[in-house]
Amino acid sequence: MLAFACAGCGAVLTAKVSRVELPDHAGQKYGHDLVPALLEPGTYTVDPGNGRPGRPETPEEEGGVRLLTLHLDGPPNRIGLAPGDVRGTVVLTDRLGGCCCGWDGRYGPNLACAGCGGAVATRVDDCGHWQVVWLEPDAVRPVAVEGPVQRVMDWTELPGTPPVEPAGCWSPVWEAAIAAALAHLMVASEGRRVTVPDGPVARAFRPAIDGLLPRGLPERRLALAGPGVPEPVADLALVPRHPQTGAVWPGATAAAVPLAAGVWARLAFADDRRLLLASPRMPDGVRRDDPPPPLPHLPFRPDGRVFAGTLERLGATREPWLRRIHDRVRDAPFEPPFG
Ligand SMILES: [Zn+2]
Ligand SMILES: [Zn+2]
Repeated sequence: MLAFACAGCGAVLTAKVSRVELPDHAGQKYGHDLVPALLEPGTYTVDPGNGRPGRPETPEEEGGVRLLTLHLDGPPNRIGLAPGDVRGTVVLTDRLGGCCCGWDGRYGPNLACAGCGGAVATRVDDCGHWQVVWLEPDAVRPVAVEGPVQRVMDWTELPGTPPVEPAGCWSPVWEAAIAAALAHLMVASEGRRVTVPDGPVARAFRPAIDGLLPRGLPERRLALAGPGVPEPVADLALVPRHPQTGAVWPGATAAAVPLAAGVWARLAFADDRRLLLASPRMPDGVRRDDPPPPLPHLPFRPDGRVFAGTLERLGATREPWLRRIHDRVRDAPFEPPFG
């Protein structure tokens, strides 16, 4: 295990943490409520960034008015943690910017090391943002600490992410994860029609695939592949991405389209419906759900902004046909098939 310390004075600034992959919903903006922490306690992640330059370090002043600078992307390789895992920092009061209920980090680092005063991190907790503290990569350094060595999860023990929130709406984690996988799928499709067999993958992907790619032949077939799933007959394999290392499952013979492991595992295996005999008067074998499965009242729609952002991260916008798809979704991210 490790912790992160201030590069200026050596003060330890975090709890003991172990690394996990960058979640697809790291940059997601969702609704107008307070959103939970991006990361589990005791974990950290690294965001390689999207290739765009970092944001300004200080708020710009013009005529006595502080300008809003809507660059929420930081420098590459920022280190994300749950806010509760950060220690020994103080707030930089002139950097507290946010739209509404909290801070969104628009003015750059808003937390300083309590030991030396150096700006070390950006706390983001405004409504609609997953709550996180991003350590500046140049302001901290990792230090080894006592603790168990991180055990890397086996591919056969991937945890599942529930698709529906307790309130009855689709999970934003699913909306982001399917959107990110869809961006990978666009690249792998090479602009050809993609077909999906009926079932849970079709329910999550097919409306978006049919809305973005041509319908004519020749087609490429997409199917789930991965640990515990029989090798499919497919041209494109929807495979899990490891929740800790971020590695793509290496066993596919078809071209791999990575999907967050928690969502992949639910698509592959989950059947949380509990079925009881319908009634003594119904024919043998007729069952009913008990309790009824949670079903949102809207069809599933991936997150358009995560989709466009992932295409940018993949460098896919250099291809003219992908650029057209990207620009269309970026300019109208809530239009069907997104939402
Ligand atoms: Zn310091
Ligand atoms: Zn608000």
